Amino acid sequence: MYCPVCGWPSVEKFPNNRAAADFYCPHCRNEYEQKSKAGAFGPTIPDGAYDTFMQRISSNNNPDFFIMQYSLVKMRVEEMYFVPKYFFVPSIVEKRKALSQNAKRAGWVGCNIRFDRIPIQGRIPIILDGVPLNKNLVMERVQRAEKIRTESLETRGWLLDVLQRVNQMDEYFTLEQLYSFESELAKKHPDNHNVRAKIRQQLQRLRDGGEVLFLGRGQYKKVKQSFHL
Ligand SMILES: [Zn+2]
Repeated sequence: MYCPVCGWPSVEKFPNNRAAADFYCPHCRNEYEQKSKAGAFGPTIPDGAYDTFMQRISSNNNPDFFIMQYSLVKMRVEEMYFVPKYFFVPSIVEKRKALSQNAKRAGWVGCNIRFDRIPIQGRIPIILDGVPLNKNLVMERVQRAEKIRTESLETRGWLLDVLQRVNQMDEYFTLEQLYSFESELAKKHPDNHNVRAKIRQQLQRLRDGGEVLFLGRGQYKKVKQSFHL
């Protein structure tokens, strides 16, 4: 696998005892964790301990993710996605039930990654139906995602929440349409009392990141790209 961030031809494997990541790029030093599964994906991907994962998200020390699905029958990789770390927010991590008293690790709480809650911009396909996509297209998408990268978890939460709603809109949409999510977003962010201002702020970020165009008078247009799925 090449490095989808800088294009270096091959990532290297970390020694097995390193817990946080599986691969790194010898050129740009970016780190990758791989999740893989035989058979179909489903909307959730089981991960390790819930607390550890939440800590990693908030520490900004998270590796990027390779998410892979393979077929043992066909002996090939069916699907593979790159998910940049800055698409990880607490709401995509689902707490599993604690293991029962009889279990070897009683009380241990694992988590699931809700792949379906990651905005499409953060689920960058590398292989689809067993066919690797053009490397330049993959890197173009990575660079596009980089433009809406945020370091603070709070900012990221708002940005991805609004991005998800924008993704649900038609190509042309209005501010009023986005305001219809006001109460839903207010519930998600109870500390914030000016949800409409927050929505407008995220729209500016999305405009600066090249995701939406401002047409004036509360009208917007989504920016399509040839490789948009
Ligand atoms: Zn690299």
